[in-house]
Amino acid sequence: MTSGIDEFRQESIKKLAKISSEPLREYMELFSAATGLSKAYALTNIFEVNSEKIKNFRLLEEYIAQRCLGMPLPYITGTKGFWKKDFRVTTDTLIPRPETELLVELILSEHKRKNLKVLDLGTGSGAIGISIAEEMPDWTITATDMSLLALQTAKINSRGLKNINFVQCFWLNSIGASFDIIVSNPPYICRNDPHLENLSFEPRIALEGGEDGLSPAREIIRRAKINLVEKGHLYLEHGHNQRDDVVQILREHAFFKINSYQDLAGHDRVIRANS
Ligand code: GLN
Repeated sequence: MTSGIDEFRQESIKKLAKISSEPLREYMELFSAATGLSKAYALTNIFEVNSEKIKNFRLLEEYIAQRCLGMPLPYITGTKGFWKKDFRVTTDTLIPRPETELLVELILSEHKRKNLKVLDLGTGSGAIGISIAEEMPDWTITATDMSLLALQTAKINSRGLKNINFVQCFWLNSIGASFDIIVSNPPYICRNDPHLENLSFEPRIALEGGEDGLSPAREIIRRAKINLVEKGHLYLEHGHNQRDDVVQILREHAFFKINSYQDLAGHDRVIRANS
């Protein structure tokens, strides 16, 4: 077994290289998830023959096989880093994306007042709402999702936090309160976009935004004014080619001071507006 792991490791990295540009890092992550040992161990010969280690070895084999079938790494390891911590993810939640951190960054840099009320619509794993709640302990965050299973995961991710609560609902339906800030990374991919095929492991309801990808944004903007305080703030993530459409919808609903922001890749990604 001890020499077997060497061979296994080399074979695995070769296999992972067919689907990933970072096969070594992925091997280490999968190794760590299967064995509970640190990633550094993945590069050394630590497998001695005993039944516990063989069980781990089988699990690692299974993980490598799943990854080679295209399952995204976070769904296998069950975690994804976002903002300042690792979030639990399941196939009922979207995998939080680095570009979404822009929403968190903007909100934290633009608002210093105490006791603000924030609404995170379509929270999924809870990435946005929980990150804000952790940074601003005197703010109160309400996080919603249509999916009870996603909310279960978000609740686990929020353990220990007292300033966030969760509500199951469709966008702003059944939300009565007024908020200083509404934020959302809604589904925004067009129904016929071929990229959806490459995202087949992720929940479609978290990705697809109807015919033109803008149905959720329209629904949120249409209802947001009612649930924002006067001169409240709306922050929305959108597709790289949707900026002008979202601005148009915001203007139609009398939002003002509309600003657009680009992600690190230089794509228009986030819009902020006042009610
Ligand atoms: N708010 C979550 C995220 O940004 C989920 C978004 C979604 O499901 N569209 O990861």
